Amino acid sequence: MVVGDFAIELDTVVIGSGPGGYVAAIRAAELGQTVAIIEREFIGGVCLNVGCIPSKALISAGHHYQEALDSSTFGVTAENVKLDFEKTQEWKQNGVVNKLTSGVKFLLKKHKVEIIEGEAFFVDEQTLRVIHPDSAQTYSFNNAIVATGSRPIEIPGFKFGGRVLDSTGGLSLKEVPKKFVIIGGGVIGAELGAAYANLGSEVTIIEGTPQILPTYEKDMVKIVEDDFKQKGVKIITSAMAREAVDNGDSVSVRYEVDGKEETIEADYVMVTVGRRPNTNDMGLEQAGVEMNERGLIQVDNQGRTNIPNIYAIGDVVPGAALAHKASYEAKIAAEAISGKKVAVDYKAMPAVAFTDPELASVGMTIKEAKEAGLEAKAFKFPFSGNGRALSLAKTEGFMRLVTTVEDNVIIGAQIAGVGASDMVSELALAIESGMNAEDIALTIHPHPSLGEIVMDASELALGMPIHI
Ligand SMILES: Cc1cc2nc3c(=O)[nH]c(=O)nc-3n(C[C@H](O)[C@H](O)[C@H](O)COP(=O)(O)OP(=O)(O)OC[C@H]3O[C@@H](n4cnc5c(N)ncnc54)[C@H](O)[C@@H]3O)c2cc1C
Repeated sequence: MVVGDFAIELDTVVIGSGPGGYVAAIRAAELGQTVAIIEREFIGGVCLNVGCIPSKALISAGHHYQEALDSSTFGVTAENVKLDFEKTQEWKQNGVVNKLTSGVKFLLKKHKVEIIEGEAFFVDEQTLRVIHPDSAQTYSFNNAIVATGSRPIEIPGFKFGGRVLDSTGGLSLKEVPKKFVIIGGGVIGAELGAAYANLGSEVTIIEGTPQILPTYEKDMVKIVEDDFKQKGVKIITSAMAREAVDNGDSVSVRYEVDGKEETIEADYVMVTVGRRPNTNDMGLEQAGVEMNERGLIQVDNQGRTNIPNIYAIGDVVPGAALAHKASYEAKIAAEAISGKKVAVDYKAMPAVAFTDPELASVGMTIKEAKEAGLEAKAFKFPFSGNGRALSLAKTEGFMRLVTTVEDNVIIGAQIAGVGASDMVSELALAIESGMNAEDIALTIHPHPSLGEIVMDASELALGMPIHI
């Protein structure tokens, strides 16, 4: 500490303002803690600024464009459909992202959370140093919540810059690439691949493993693959990306498949092979906080690290890197600091891929249930058996329920189809509450709605389906 730099005392300090950090700050304030939040870049973190929200905005723009180009199924035709991508980007930024991030700032202020702009470094387990562009300040704290999130992984041969993009670059392109190569067919790569294919790009996805979207089951992914095929998206699996050469007005991407070297030319290449936690270079070692070999912070079931007054949540801790997981852990950590007897329970954690169609899963797959030693069964109800899906002309896909054999308790669900991202919540509630298929089958669902598929699938699990 330099002479004259007196430490400012804080009660609860949250580092990072993503869906983990800002939710933790608000909940802690609601519980009566005096809270400060430190952010080095944008309020709202990755999700609001360069993740979930802008990607969903581009996905939605792609759908509107495709519908305008071809809605002939409904007898609707249009001429001279044009895409003004500059306007799309302007809407995404000002109409969506900025509105949401100013909403978060408003909420933080409303809850009297002090916002400190700057980069935080731990000095020890009770002290932080916050570096601003032209000054620095020391803070002492009683409790800290680390919510510093993650950043894209850079792979050898693909140095980010110019025509070699990370997901942030992929979201802020000024033009729709004529040819777009995506390295990594996980959720982020597949979502943006679908979005740009809908916006008019010729997309190639290069994936290292034998299947794109490897976290979803084969029969679900097959439906997305069929859609990619229809869009003309080329998927190359079991392929290793080797190098990108930026030619100034194009990029050459070299990869290896079946022992052969291939090269494709594109306007841009985007690398979405994974993300790494922001836990290095912030003094966590000085505070004595333990991390695993991947740089993830080890926490107990309340989000507490090995240092009792330091908590960690979101992408910096093990588990799926999802925004709603970060926000969930945030509330548990804030409540634990307030002395509440809370603990995380990930039994009903949904995951969604906003592809065409959407994929969603919650709870266990049948394979996981069997591996866990449960006597379980699985039933699949097709979207083609649902009137609303038919009226939307979106009948591809299915909902699968996984239930116990003995008493039909819902333990898992997987959905591939339109609206899956919204439908999965009912099933998360069912799993969270320990409901069985009869509870759902006896719940009146509005007709005609996609939600009826949940009821139909439950009737199927009970052996008394009406619509199949
Ligand atoms: C393209 C893309 C699409 C995605 N889509 C989805 C989706 O649809 N659904 C979903 O659930 N998830 C999605 N995700 C993942 C989601 O964005 C993350 O899981 C989520 O943002 C993690 O939240 P977090 O609070 O842990 O951290 P982050 O959102 O990463 O926020 C961390 C914040 O901490 C700040 N910070 C870091 N270090 C310091 C420091 N030393 N001092 C001060 N501040 C610091 C950073 O600037 C950042 O603002 C997507 C991600 C990407 C990249």
